[in-house]
Amino acid sequence: MIPYGRQDISEDDIKSVINVLKSDLITQGPLVPKFEHIICEKTNAKYAVAVNSATSALHIACLALDLSRNDILWTSAITFVASANCGIYCGAKIDFVDIDKFTLNISINALKEKLAIAQKKNKLPKIIVVVHMRGEPCELDEINKLSKIYGFKIIEDASHAIGAKYQKEYIGNNKFSDITVFSFHPVKIITTGEGGVATTNDQRLHKKMSLLRTHGITRDQKEMHTFSHGSWYYEQVSLGYNYRMTDIQAALGFSQMKRLDYFIEKRHEIARIYDNAFNNLPVSIPKNNSESYSSLHLYIIRLQLDKISISHKDVFSLLRKNDVGVNVHYIPLHYHPYFKSFGFKKGQYPEAEKYYKEAITLPLYPTLKHAAVKKIINIFSKIILDGNTQ
Ligand SMILES: *Cc1c(COP(=O)(O)O)cnc(C)c1O
Repeated sequence: MIPYGRQDISEDDIKSVINVLKSDLITQGPLVPKFEHIICEKTNAKYAVAVNSATSALHIACLALDLSRNDILWTSAITFVASANCGIYCGAKIDFVDIDKFTLNISINALKEKLAIAQKKNKLPKIIVVVHMRGEPCELDEINKLSKIYGFKIIEDASHAIGAKYQKEYIGNNKFSDITVFSFHPVKIITTGEGGVATTNDQRLHKKMSLLRTHGITRDQKEMHTFSHGSWYYEQVSLGYNYRMTDIQAALGFSQMKRLDYFIEKRHEIARIYDNAFNNLPVSIPKNNSESYSSLHLYIIRLQLDKISISHKDVFSLLRKNDVGVNVHYIPLHYHPYFKSFGFKKGQYPEAEKYYKEAITLPLYPTLKHAAVKKIINIFSKIILDGNTQ
């Protein structure tokens, strides 16, 4: 089966990891700060906190922004569950905003409407988690303007978007947001096995997230409430977690970062082949904004169901039967039983629901060979046009 995404690990990556394994410190050594430094250098963020997953990064980002009971967090109706769960971890209420049918990102119109209504009801969100779906940046400028009117904080869930650019600058610089989160799960743009990072330009948020990552424990005299009892001494000054990244992971991440731009170029190269092939087929391809550069984490097509004689489900299973490891990103969050239990109902997010009926994610990753891309295109075209693969 050709997977929809997979890591690209080089000999240099392997050597970097082995070097750590042979060293004295396999966690909390020099590699985590080194990895954080290269993330800051690339994104132009002031601070970075590397953690064991993007989910953890989203959690400590919400906590650092003081999200708690009686607060509300909004996110996009089409995203991975973690973009919403981070709010629930903090005891907050969550709500969703419908997507833009062209970019699949949060719809600015839907957001404006929802904010105006929420203001009247005194139910404005404290945080909005915006998701750069597929690696295509959201309209951050617009969202930032709304945050000034309505007073919410912005977390960019950039799990798909390391190396992407908005208005010619790298995602993660927090020019329009408070905190940006990246994921390094193996299907994402670069990997650390499991891992994530939160970037910010705010020294206070950096300090809070650093404490939250490691039990709320400090060894810094300036942070302590009493004078140090001796050089063994540390103080727990707040409640934190063990969300640390290991040096083994950070070594892999540091090595992978050197090939970030190459990975994205390869993704663009493959996506262009798909784009050309699908021009004349009854499918739609989501749009990318002219003032942005997508990291192309996912290649998603939407079936024009009124123009084909085969169902979405059958297209999907025929592709899988032919060893094309397609996927669907994502099931609308309000469809999940867990979120339904908060009272969300089918029909609430029409664009997200329509999208879900038509969407298929095709394989896209840097080591995907051109021959495999051609094979996928042939199989897909036959299924769409003939309703089978004969
Ligand atoms: C992958 C992903 C996450 C979670 O990342 P982990 O590193 O696996 O915790 C969160 N949000 C989105 C949009 C993702 O794609």
